[in-house]
Amino acid sequence: MQYSVQVLQLTGDRERRTRVYAVPALPTGHPDPYWGAVTDVPCPADCGGTVRWAEAGYVPGYRICDQCGRHYMARGTMAAPVLALVGGRRGA
Ligand SMILES: [Zn+2]
Repeated sequence: MQYSVQVLQLTGDRERRTRVYAVPALPTGHPDPYWGAVTDVPCPADCGGTVRWAEAGYVPGYRICDQCGRHYMARGTMAAPVLALVGGRRGA
């Protein structure tokens, strides 16, 4: 999936160059159009996995791919949701 590089401050105390993947927005009639667009969706790294809710022990918006282990942070808006790549694998 195509991504852009943005300088963001996500989880640490400093800004980093970050890969930001635009993910498909959901219809406005969806019961949870923002969180539904960034939870249990195909991994933007095209690994075949699914990006899962992983806020326990992290922060709101934290997601981890169940296949490749990449960490993402949900950002953007209901109309333009994105997943920002936080790190490679757990502990990395
Ligand atoms: Zn993945």
